[in-house]
Amino acid sequence: MQDKIRILLVDDDEDDYIITRDIIEDIPGRHFSLDWTASFQEALALVKQGKYDVYLVDFFLGAHDGLELITKAVEEGCTAPFILLTGQTDRETDEKAMRAGASDYLVKGTFNPFDLERSIRYSLEHAKNLEEIQKLNSELEARVEARTQELAEAIQKLENTNRILHEAQTDIQKALQKEKELNELKSRFVTTASHEFRTPLSTVLSSASLIGKYKSTEDDDKRQKHVARIKSAVENLTTILNDFLSMSRIEEGKVHNLPSTFDLVEFSQEAVEDMQGLLKEGQQIQYQHTGDQTLVHLDKQLLKNILLNLLSNGSKYSGEDKPILFTTSVGGSAVTITVEDKGIGIPKADQVHLFTPFFRAQNATNIQGTGLGLNIVKRYVEVMDGTMHYESELNKGSRFSLIFPKSA
Ligand code: ADP
Repeated sequence: MQDKIRILLVDDDEDDYIITRDIIEDIPGRHFSLDWTASFQEALALVKQGKYDVYLVDFFLGAHDGLELITKAVEEGCTAPFILLTGQTDRETDEKAMRAGASDYLVKGTFNPFDLERSIRYSLEHAKNLEEIQKLNSELEARVEARTQELAEAIQKLENTNRILHEAQTDIQKALQKEKELNELKSRFVTTASHEFRTPLSTVLSSASLIGKYKSTEDDDKRQKHVARIKSAVENLTTILNDFLSMSRIEEGKVHNLPSTFDLVEFSQEAVEDMQGLLKEGQQIQYQHTGDQTLVHLDKQLLKNILLNLLSNGSKYSGEDKPILFTTSVGGSAVTITVEDKGIGIPKADQVHLFTPFFRAQNATNIQGTGLGLNIVKRYVEVMDGTMHYESELNKGSRFSLIFPKSA
């Protein structure tokens, strides 16, 4: 036997209940059970319990109205159909009912058992379809949600892989670049070394063989001259070797800043002393210190190297009798050192390459050098957290200034 269709009539007029009940009883074939409530609140409670298959709701319900009940029921998630009963045909009420969620509306006193049965049947079918659509819809939403989640995860994974690949690529590129630079440096090293070693070595060779020829006592002057040439050539070789060694120590990251506190003036005077044997005829280093403070906290070893490099360049690249001006000053926050000469200067076009290893300016090719000194100086200055500036004018002279933080 088919289940009874449970109907709840919500109507504040008992006469309407009786009329409706009679109409329902006259419906042939199908079995219906009808309950009735006149209270809006009770109707709402019963709707929440979900006991009924269909609700017939009167438009007027005392302080409330049927549309309000339908709206609230829909909000509660009720899927059973509501059929609104009104006193008269009215398109506006019909549309309002439809928008509130009613599945049909009937005008009281005009519908017969056939109309009611038809409305209930259609409403139930409609509600069933609606429920099915809602179910499909939420299944679809869940699937879309899951798929979106999967896609987001896949995108995240791809992005991660991409990032890792990109980082790896950058690392490889950096390593390759470093390798390339090192290779270039090595080959320039070999070229420069063989070139720079050849001159002093051939001097040593020729002077040694000449000494062998000067046998008599009268030749002693000549012998001494060649001994001096050999000494100078060996000193040259030592300088070149020292530059090469400093360079490779920097490349290997073995140069560190190890500051200590010392008197800058005493230190500078020592450097000037060290330079005496290397100066050309008539050259003089004019040293001057500005300010009362003389104590500094810097790496002595690195600073000595820097100073000797700059001072010997000042001497090397200027003529006899030319002065080399050397100044130091200790200020509140910085230590400043300058070395200035009145020598050959550096051509403007060459100045940009000044700190490139092995670079030698066009006007310096006849003067012995490796092109490593300034690069070493610059890198030592950086290790000591300092900065370096220079100005130079062709045939007028050059000036190099260094600034170190005082409390480094
Ligand atoms: P080196 O003196 O061994 O050639 P450096 O690195 O000290 O190497 O200097 C690089 C180049 O810069 C020199 O070859 C020279 O052309 C130029 N240079 C450096 N110092 C001076 C200076 N005081 N006056 C003129 N040119 C200079």
